[in-house]
Amino acid sequence: MQLYNTLSAEERAQLIDEAGQQRLTLSFYAYAKIEDPKKFRDDLFIQWNKLDALGRTYVAKEGINAQMSVPAENFEAFRETLEAYDFMRGIRLNVAVEHDDHSFLKLTVKVRDKIVADGLNDETFDVTNIGVHLKAKEFNQILEDPNTIVVDFRNHYESEIGHFKGAITPDVETFRESLPIINEQLKDFKEDKNLVMYCTGGIRCEKASAYFKHQGFKNVFQLEGGIINYAKQIKEEGLESKFIGKNFVFDHRLGERITDDIVSQCHQCGKPCDNHTNCLNDGCHLLFIQCDECKAAMENCCSTECLEITHLPLAEQVKLRRGKQVGNKVFRKGKSENLKFKHSGELSDIALAKTQETKDIRQKIKIKKTLVGKAEHYFVKAQVALFVVEKNEIKLGDKILISGPTTGNQELVLEKMFVNGSENSSAKVGDKITFEVPFRIRLSDKLYKLDA
Ligand SMILES: [Zn+2]
Ligand SMILES: [Zn+2]
Repeated sequence: MQLYNTLSAEERAQLIDEAGQQRLTLSFYAYAKIEDPKKFRDDLFIQWNKLDALGRTYVAKEGINAQMSVPAENFEAFRETLEAYDFMRGIRLNVAVEHDDHSFLKLTVKVRDKIVADGLNDETFDVTNIGVHLKAKEFNQILEDPNTIVVDFRNHYESEIGHFKGAITPDVETFRESLPIINEQLKDFKEDKNLVMYCTGGIRCEKASAYFKHQGFKNVFQLEGGIINYAKQIKEEGLESKFIGKNFVFDHRLGERITDDIVSQCHQCGKPCDNHTNCLNDGCHLLFIQCDECKAAMENCCSTECLEITHLPLAEQVKLRRGKQVGNKVFRKGKSENLKFKHSGELSDIALAKTQETKDIRQKIKIKKTLVGKAEHYFVKAQVALFVVEKNEIKLGDKILISGPTTGNQELVLEKMFVNGSENSSAKVGDKITFEVPFRIRLSDKLYKLDA
């Protein structure tokens, strides 16, 4: 019985492309009492794996929190796997407005202490005493009430590219930090104002609303299903959007457009822009906003320092990174002195520009790659790679990509190679080719040709 992934992300992406079926990106969560999270986790994995569902899910004694990509044709079957549990009967699945077949490339279901790392001591207040859920229409109505205070319970990099008009957007990096700040700021309004809150998918507000009720706020409301669900409802019901800009999401798209307003600036040149990216220097990986011109000029880097580092030979870059833990912490800081046009805290409700974008909002321009072959052997000392050509052909001057779980994605230009033992300028299917690489090849590595 399979309980864990056996395919790499790379292999999965290829399978998805080959299958050509449409996938839906969705998220859901439920608070509940789960006696045996480990067993719950295994049961879900087995069922979801059969349905070719991918994504990232956390289960805990307190419930489940999932962000998934599911083949459209398996959507109902997937829903049934959830409805089988009492606490998920009738569960709301937040289906994203825009879809990307590669939004998730692995199925991971993890047992955690909590389904959201909210850093709160739940023992101190009643987490089930939550605020009133509002649908999009009701949410719009309450925003019109002069007695309403609306608070954004997301982080600074999320509210920067889009938020509800008039919202308080705390300048925080974690949800927990925002709670006491808001409590202090609004302490004189506990009795008579409407405290209205929202977040990305609604889950943070479940806890936040309970916290504020415990703090003595009398009229606490929350946006049901968060911005994701709001976006869907305004579209379906033809309502006015009181949210302007883009909704930051946690898959690799980094943003889902809600209105065509651009409310943020390129952090490097100040021009209206709301495309997040991560600095290309793997030793930095800073999350920031960068326009296409700056992306081209700075080669996707956040600073000239990072740009210089990416031009160093790979072996030296690796040496520089040693001891630094940045890994996958994509959302690490999002702040740097190099970014002159970064805004947080009080944000403007005025659109700086309207988008010209078509529907493709993927952050990195996708370069077409063609599979050529797989690694057959590596030579530790000489740093020479041996690949077998299984498809297509390859010749000197080709831009190539070597990709694998440990190797990551390494791009090179093929300058010299040996084909079946002697120097040659091209190789075809069945040939064995060797060439030098500035890193170590793994047997799981694959060789691709990139379109120039
Ligand atoms: Zn720029
Ligand atoms: Zn950087």
